[in-house]
Amino acid sequence: MSFRSRGPRTVPLKSAEEVDAIVRKIRDDQTRPENYRERSLKLHGWICAKCGREFELSNLHLLTVHHKDGNHNYNPPDGSNWENLCVYCHDDEHSRTILADYLAGKDKKS
Ligand SMILES: [Zn+2]
Ligand SMILES: [Zn+2]
Repeated sequence: MSFRSRGPRTVPLKSAEEVDAIVRKIRDDQTRPENYRERSLKLHGWICAKCGREFELSNLHLLTVHHKDGNHNYNPPDGSNWENLCVYCHDDEHSRTILADYLAGKDKKS
């Protein structure tokens, strides 16, 4: 009998070199302003701020960064405008704010 992870595939452990490469890539990404996601994940952790669901590398793509003020160009380095939300909570958040934005007439790109 061997232990199996719950998923259909077993994910092989990464070697130190691979981890290094990933870390380097993340660091490179962070120097680019559009990669606030990596920074936010690092700052706030791999956890949904709303439902508290925790994430790991295999499902991290389901964790997204929400901009609290709705402005994707406002990315203060202290992370004060970011909130890590899972896609479900994020969707929920936007189904409200989209309506609010619509009612406030902010729907158009300025
Ligand atoms: Zn959530
Ligand atoms: Zn959002």
